[in-house]
Amino acid sequence: MGVPTGEVVARPMVARACGCLREFQHYAVDRYRAQRLAKFQKTRCEVCVAKLNDEQRQAAATVPKKGEAFKLLPEGAQYALTREADASWTGTLTANGQTVAADGDGPHGLTLALARAWLSANGITASEEAGEKPAASTPTAVSKHPAPKPPPPAAKPSLIATQKPKPE
Ligand SMILES: [Zn+2]
Repeated sequence: MGVPTGEVVARPMVARACGCLREFQHYAVDRYRAQRLAKFQKTRCEVCVAKLNDEQRQAAATVPKKGEAFKLLPEGAQYALTREADASWTGTLTANGQTVAADGDGPHGLTLALARAWLSANGITASEEAGEKPAASTPTAVSKHPAPKPPPPAAKPSLIATQKPKPE
């Protein structure tokens, strides 16, 4: 159903799905005019398509990334995941007294979907300034020392400690 070639005999203005009036071309020979017109009326105009794509891109940019989504959940958030008979998974996430439900192919994707659903329901989006927050302390103050090592085995304090005095 390509656009026919040939003489354009009429150019009526037709409302598209978005409500915008756009010129619809009538060709002298067009076996599929009815189908083309139906498709024309069911779809948005190019301006609104571009606008919609922009909005979706912006919306996608505010969806928290995998690592961030879990960190954004409040303290006490609880998952409940259930494997169904068909090997799919259903789950709920409860936090701050609010529960969201979802299903998925596996627990990994499902936990992320639930986290995003909960955050979205609570109006929490990805932090736009992530990665460029002003540091609370100067970088030089951050300790880079390794974790303290356990005492050397030469001390062997446990040998003495395990010899309990016998009760008299
Ligand atoms: Zn439009």
